[in-house]
Amino acid sequence: MSSEFTIATLGSHSALQILKGAKDEGFQTIAICKRGMESPYHQFKVADRIITLDHFSQFDEAEEELLDMNAIMIPHGSFIAYMGIEKVKNLKVHYYGNKAILDWEADRRKEMKWLKQAQLHLPRTFDSPEEIDRPVIVKFFGAGGGRGYFLAKDRNDFYQKYEKQVKSGIVEQELQYSIQEYVIGNPVYIHYFHSIIQNETEIMSFDRRYETNVDSIGRIPSKDQQELGIQPSYLVIGNTPLVVRESLLPEMIQMGERVVETSKEIVAKGLFGPFCLETIVTDTGKIVCFEISARIVAGTNPFVNGSPYTWLRYNEPMSTGRRIAREIKEAIQDNRINEVLS
Ligand code: ADP
Repeated sequence: MSSEFTIATLGSHSALQILKGAKDEGFQTIAICKRGMESPYHQFKVADRIITLDHFSQFDEAEEELLDMNAIMIPHGSFIAYMGIEKVKNLKVHYYGNKAILDWEADRRKEMKWLKQAQLHLPRTFDSPEEIDRPVIVKFFGAGGGRGYFLAKDRNDFYQKYEKQVKSGIVEQELQYSIQEYVIGNPVYIHYFHSIIQNETEIMSFDRRYETNVDSIGRIPSKDQQELGIQPSYLVIGNTPLVVRESLLPEMIQMGERVVETSKEIVAKGLFGPFCLETIVTDTGKIVCFEISARIVAGTNPFVNGSPYTWLRYNEPMSTGRRIAREIKEAIQDNRINEVLS
């Protein structure tokens, strides 16, 4: 049954577990790679076919073959970033997930509206620097790896640091930014999977990010930090697994369910498949959500062999990549495949 379709994804981000999971569920797999980036997909033997492109912008060249193979593209963070939303919307090949939700994820204002409607705790956002009345994090739009992001303890600090960022050329003056309350606590990334077939929102796993250079600044004495004038950056270079206090789970499960319910009010069919809520948990146990990723996140990569949570539920290795393939397989078996594609 699974062999009628092939599972394909771009060779990057979380492709190893997506392809491995698809093979475990009995599918043939395709990795579409940028020239020179093919080696992991050869070495770890997850791809039955590797298509090499000089650049991902030439994706159209691969599309005929993908259509011939009746491929289902599994989107991940790099897929959306490399292709751009418009190109993704115009794909002819099957796409797993709901394309309509992409606009809500990409626009920070829409994203916050959605999360607010889902009754999540959000960091306060300030429309203008004049409104700043507490410590904030300033995020520049389109800044790769959080380049130029800075913390400001109050309004004056904001203006001083903003000037400095612009003068030093770290960010351009025209670059738009958002000003968010800086929430003191621990970052926790919650990975969910909403199954259309089982009609349930499952917690898959949790991770912490390992970001350069913020996660290593603390290795340098504060005096040296100041003298060296180090600018914090937030480029993710890896992820580490996390298990949360069990008493946090009920609220976290409900948060995921509310986000899915609300998504049905904003776009037809709503959000389904993997998604992630990026949160900070404070010392009073408040879970503050500052972002949603409406697809598989790289934070699920430590769990190729499953997480403690998927082990509880499945009693077999179940990565998020495999869970996607399982959903597609069940959708095919139930003659409901069109419901999970767009
Ligand atoms: P990007 O959009 O580049 O992924 P994020 O919005 O994830 O950047 O933020 C980068 C870093 O800043 C993360 O380590 C995150 O934990 C931290 N962060 C983001 N927003 C807040 C916030 N409102 N309060 C505290 N920390 C935050």
